[in-house]
Amino acid sequence: MSAAEQYQAFKQLGLKLDMSRGKPAPEQLDLSNALIDALDTYKAADGTDARNYGGTIGLPEARALFAELLDVPAAQVVVDSSSSLSLMHDVIVYSLLNGVPGHAPWVQSPVTFLCPVPGYDRHFAICETRGIKMMNVPLTEDGLDMDLVEKLVAEDASIKGMWIVPKYSNPGGVVYSERVVERLAAMKTAAPDFRLMWDDAYRFHHLGERKLAVADILAACAKAGNPDRAIVFASSSKVSWAGSGVAALAASPANIAWWTRHAGIRSIGPDKINQLRHVRYLKDLPTLEALMEQHRQLLKPKFDAVLAQFQAHLGEVPGVSWTRPEGGYFIDLVTPDGAAKRTVALAKEAGITLTPAGAAFPYGVDPKDRHIRIAPSFPSLEEINQAAQGIALSLRLALAA
Ligand code: PMP
Repeated sequence: MSAAEQYQAFKQLGLKLDMSRGKPAPEQLDLSNALIDALDTYKAADGTDARNYGGTIGLPEARALFAELLDVPAAQVVVDSSSSLSLMHDVIVYSLLNGVPGHAPWVQSPVTFLCPVPGYDRHFAICETRGIKMMNVPLTEDGLDMDLVEKLVAEDASIKGMWIVPKYSNPGGVVYSERVVERLAAMKTAAPDFRLMWDDAYRFHHLGERKLAVADILAACAKAGNPDRAIVFASSSKVSWAGSGVAALAASPANIAWWTRHAGIRSIGPDKINQLRHVRYLKDLPTLEALMEQHRQLLKPKFDAVLAQFQAHLGEVPGVSWTRPEGGYFIDLVTPDGAAKRTVALAKEAGITLTPAGAAFPYGVDPKDRHIRIAPSFPSLEEINQAAQGIALSLRLALAA
């Protein structure tokens, strides 16, 4: 059968599949149903009544838990909100309006962020809506072309920050090497108030047997004499419940004091009941890792199904490649130049909703129109198999047309 005939046959099935966002599947959320009954008291270890106002910085035991998870001192951790994205957003807004410690508000002059691509669309949306100009820098196998990054930040004082997803990046699955982490920590920046927005969203989200580790950015920055450079973000969104998890931020003591000052204006305190039950439920690093292994058992077959379908239908197609991530939530399908948008449109016609082509780039513009983000987590295994096949057939048709 020709590519067109195969595509038409697939379309006739009349399927409706959504592969657009990296959401945990219901079975993954079920893994943490014990959270509902995990609360044995509303009193925190220091006597705080978790039901009441207060505790901007988070409960001591919640800070201690994230300190263990992130391998940083508890004094350098804030636990707040259910979404790390909201913490990232607020760090940027506080920096724009008030400046980082010891510096003028960013808004007083043009602000640019370096954006490793392909990257996370919601990072880019924060920049776009808050008036921060974005500059693409290509991701490489071990992180970044550091010669390029060092040159840009040394020359351009408008570059105030940079997005980093250091492990199993969204969507490329890139893991930053120790050398890249060291160079990011030590590089000379023309802007003295430069910040690394270190989004450790997939720290525990391994897909393979190997548990890859990334060098400690806060330690590297302190060692290089830039202790305030990095702010680390994490959450339990894809550990427990994506909509009702707990988020954390880790940074230097100066940054923590700065954050606490500003966050205390925005809110009279976070949801400490949720913090307490997460502490009871997640307990410690080994308990969390055992839970992540259960997530892995559910996710791995779905990723394998996509990879097998791509291999079967696209293995021989010149110019087409895809990532084989060792962790995280995504596969990046890379098409020949100019074929991604058309593929996504054809997939849509065949009943498969994908993240819009270009979404993984600032302003939604993939300069070569090549990247399609595949999110295999949410649909069932059967649906994933069908969807991956449909995407592959859509790409083949896009190339044949
Ligand atoms: N960062 C990255 C890189 C992500 O992929 C996601 C979720 N897709 C988030 C942050 C969102 O994290 P949270 O739920 O803690 O806001």
